[in-house]
Amino acid sequence: MRLAADLHIHSCLSPCADGEMTPNNIVNMAYIKKLDVIAVTDHNSAKNLPAVAGAARKRGLVLLPGLEVQSREEVHLLCYFETLEAALAFGDAIYAHLPDVFNRTDIFGEQLVMDANDTVTGAEPKLLIQSLRLSIDEVCALTEDFGGLVVPAHINREANSILYNLGFIPPGLDFHALEVCAAAPAPAVDLSKYRVIHSSDAHTLGAILEPKQVIEAPARSARGVLQALNQRPYGPFIGES
Ligand SMILES: [Zn+2]
Ligand SMILES: [Zn+2]
Repeated sequence: MRLAADLHIHSCLSPCADGEMTPNNIVNMAYIKKLDVIAVTDHNSAKNLPAVAGAARKRGLVLLPGLEVQSREEVHLLCYFETLEAALAFGDAIYAHLPDVFNRTDIFGEQLVMDANDTVTGAEPKLLIQSLRLSIDEVCALTEDFGGLVVPAHINREANSILYNLGFIPPGLDFHALEVCAAAPAPAVDLSKYRVIHSSDAHTLGAILEPKQVIEAPARSARGVLQALNQRPYGPFIGES
């Protein structure tokens, strides 16, 4: 089954995302663009995933529940889960490791939590764009505890990436997939050992991918997409639909 996917999108819970990135706006834009699967991956929080899941259900879109975690090494890691409940439980588990540094909306922007009708139900007080007190290894272990999969984000970007911050991919960490930024120079890594993902990292509606990243998945579900990310042989997804 071929599924057009964008697996890295920020909602208005991420302070760096545009205010237009409401759950319904994201889902409707993905629907207009004829995507089958989206992952909304806010920084260090899963709190907008219930709203996105509700909006996605109405449009018949698959949501792969995810977060973009920032480890102690300032490395961004996409953590994907099969269920909303697992992502929320993981979000609760990492919250205790998020330092008590509070958001300044005048500097960083708002961190809005919404319901499935895009009504604001709250705001996250702690600053979400900061490092957790968890190492990459600890983030990987915790994600596994909740049945999730870690994909290092934008590995060829010169900020918050595993290659830039560490200089290498730790051999002990058994990553199956890597996210590579299509607009940056290719990374100095043997990509044949990995599933390579090119997602948008959209912070604005217009940046959400066209349906050009196509995943061959065994089922039209979050589970199916996770299975595809883990499946051998590795290599790029199919590409243009
Ligand atoms: Zn990032
Ligand atoms: Zn991101």
